[in-house]
Amino acid sequence: MTQTSEPTLATLTEEQLADLLAEAAAYRNQPSLRYCLVPGCLREFDAAARMAGDPPVRPSWSGDDWRQLGSGHIRPHGGRYFCPGHVDLVTAHAPRRVQAPSGRWTVDCACGWMAAPQRWHGTVAALWEEHLLTAAGELPPAPPVTDPEHRVPLADHTEQSLAELYDRLWDTENQYTECRDAGRSFFQAWQDQNTLLNADATLKAGVHNALLSLRTRIRHVDRDWGQNPTDAGIYALLIGWDCEQQHQHTGDCPAALTDIAEKYGWSGAVVKALRKHRAALAQAGPNGETDAQVAREMGED
Ligand SMILES: [Zn+2]
Ligand SMILES: [Zn+2]
Ligand SMILES: [Zn+2]
Repeated sequence: MTQTSEPTLATLTEEQLADLLAEAAAYRNQPSLRYCLVPGCLREFDAAARMAGDPPVRPSWSGDDWRQLGSGHIRPHGGRYFCPGHVDLVTAHAPRRVQAPSGRWTVDCACGWMAAPQRWHGTVAALWEEHLLTAAGELPPAPPVTDPEHRVPLADHTEQSLAELYDRLWDTENQYTECRDAGRSFFQAWQDQNTLLNADATLKAGVHNALLSLRTRIRHVDRDWGQNPTDAGIYALLIGWDCEQQHQHTGDCPAALTDIAEKYGWSGAVVKALRKHRAALAQAGPNGETDAQVAREMGED
């Protein structure tokens, strides 16, 4: 519209009316832009269009692949959303909000970094943003608090700076207690786990020795274990009709279970169960491979 003076009802043209209606519609459907939370990032998307399922007015306002920090995280000053280009950065430094034992707030960054506890959560958010920019290489690395070069000279100390130092000391004392407790719990859990593992190993060794004794007895009985189905079943479990050596099987390898099953009319399910049970016993105790290994060692000596 080039006209500067407002038209009256009498002078309003249809074209002007259409313009007015279009402007009113555009005003009602204003984009509701959300910014990337990474300071300095200029990307934004239209949350209103996204929610309505409409395409954004500009393609660069698309909300595709944007992510959001969930609850339990600190709220950065730039909001909760981050752009596709910063997904990796923000995910690697997801800022979990934590209340220190002192009652003050801190942030537990996914990378392991923690802010010194602060009374206001907004300060923590700012510290995390500084950390994020440092991690992204936009800021030089922070000097350590204890770095002699960055120590405040006695003359420059104020009541406030001393209070901060004492606060830090207090937080460190709390952290120390927490770390010590956590260390104790881990050690206890490790000891319990070791006890369990030892008991388990003892049990396994016992089963192995019992199976070895049983196997030796059976192998030295002069009997055709295939002569009746009961013996054949026992042999299938304790020795195994098939080759158990860990090698490429050849035509010379024993593979008699199928024949035995056919001879006594065992069903596929019975054979499957026998194979399963044999495999369990072969794992727990001596097996064809154990025998073969003993034979190999004897031959080598
Ligand atoms: Zn971004
Ligand atoms: Zn981090
Ligand atoms: Zn074989």
